[in-house]
Amino acid sequence: MADEVRVRYAPSPTGLPHIGNIRTALFNWLFARHHGGKFIVRIEDTDQERLVPGAVDGILDGLEWLDIDWDEGPRVGGDFGSYFQSERLPLYHAEAERLIQQGDAYRCYCTRERLVEVRAEQERNKVSLGYDRRCRHLTQAERNAFEDEGAPSVVRFAMPETGVTKLKDLIRDEVEWQNELVDDFILLKSDGFPTYHLAVVTDDHLMQVSHVLRAEEWLSSAPRHLQLYRALGYTPPEHGHLPMILGPDRAKLSKRHGATSILEYREDGFLPDALRNFMVLLGWSLDDKTEVMPLETMVDNFTLDRVGKPAAIFDREKLTWMNGVYIRDMDVESLADALTPFLEQGLAPELLPLDRSYLLTIVPLIQERLKSLTEAPDMIAYFLEEQPEYDPANLVQRGMTTEEALQALEKALHYLKSAEFDTERLEEDMRSLGEELGLTPRRFFGTLRWAATGRNVSPPLFDTMVVLGKERVTARLGWALENLTS
Ligand code: GLU
Repeated sequence: MADEVRVRYAPSPTGLPHIGNIRTALFNWLFARHHGGKFIVRIEDTDQERLVPGAVDGILDGLEWLDIDWDEGPRVGGDFGSYFQSERLPLYHAEAERLIQQGDAYRCYCTRERLVEVRAEQERNKVSLGYDRRCRHLTQAERNAFEDEGAPSVVRFAMPETGVTKLKDLIRDEVEWQNELVDDFILLKSDGFPTYHLAVVTDDHLMQVSHVLRAEEWLSSAPRHLQLYRALGYTPPEHGHLPMILGPDRAKLSKRHGATSILEYREDGFLPDALRNFMVLLGWSLDDKTEVMPLETMVDNFTLDRVGKPAAIFDREKLTWMNGVYIRDMDVESLADALTPFLEQGLAPELLPLDRSYLLTIVPLIQERLKSLTEAPDMIAYFLEEQPEYDPANLVQRGMTTEEALQALEKALHYLKSAEFDTERLEEDMRSLGEELGLTPRRFFGTLRWAATGRNVSPPLFDTMVVLGKERVTARLGWALENLTS
């Protein structure tokens, strides 16, 4: 292990981060925290054409929401900045120039049209060798001629044409590539911006990154990077390529599987702790059976030998289940805090503002069934409404006559007007009342539930009545009596 663990999350702001991107961030963060090292965020904004406005903030806000804090990077600074690659161009130019001087890179003047032709020719011959290296072999006079006419150019790396490049990957073990199959890739583009390959190697070196932990899709770039480290005379960091994430149908994870941008999970009512716990299992496991675990357990146990090679499966239903587990585990005050913005947004304006102390009595009732914070407005509305809207016909339970329902309501109302609103007392007395009326509890309580809440499912009926309070409950039973016509 290197002296100090320094790892980085290096997103390209070409869109909002989805679960796969943030899984990479989380694994790097856990690795850093486990080893007492540093976690760096670096924005790889060198592909100017693909930049998406707002993406950087989306990425950073997503990390902050998940409590994945970084020691160096945008918003926090650090000794190795700038942490935006677009602000580091001179560093890349210097490296490219050095490689040219050494003979490990060269200027390429091929036009787009020529490259298209080369590719078409290769396709006709059914070979795919990439760039044909014409400019690698230009004479000095030919180079001068291009320069004199001001021809635009890119800088390409001169890949060794023989031999193999080997990687001892921390997750995938030995991987090797034939050098002749890797083309002379571009280091600097004609707009003066570096490609990912040059920028990533320069920065991982200058920022003293000890371990590169990134998604498996980058594995094919590793031989290029290792050759660049060699040519630049730098010791490469250790590499670990994290397993792919697939949808339940084993296709590459996409929006269709519900893998939207990370902040959408916040809008969809997921708790950051639940999402983090869900994500850690996408490729890592504690012991092959524990699923729900506190953050400290993840930090204490996060080692790469427990990161698997097989693809991880993203299962949104499991995330929903896990969210419910975390919701049930919350104390009432924190859950009320978490719910408040959802209630303020989802409840009809006339039900606002919320009375905090009343809310604190409602929350324990819905906590058990809540799987997403977004379900709360619907579950809570009838606690706040003057009179819930519903069809009075619902008061008559299956197998019951309207007369029986009316009588049940009348008797219940009479009793409730002078009853003590205590769950156990209510339940006991109402059971006897039901018996007196010759009604099964399902029917009697079914009628009462509709009358008190305006729905056919609610938290336990008598707890609900106690929270609603005598005044609301009796008024609603009165409404039911008036509106149920025989
Ligand atoms: N900028 C790359 C990305 O967007 C980073 C790849 C790497 O970590 O080397 O994922």
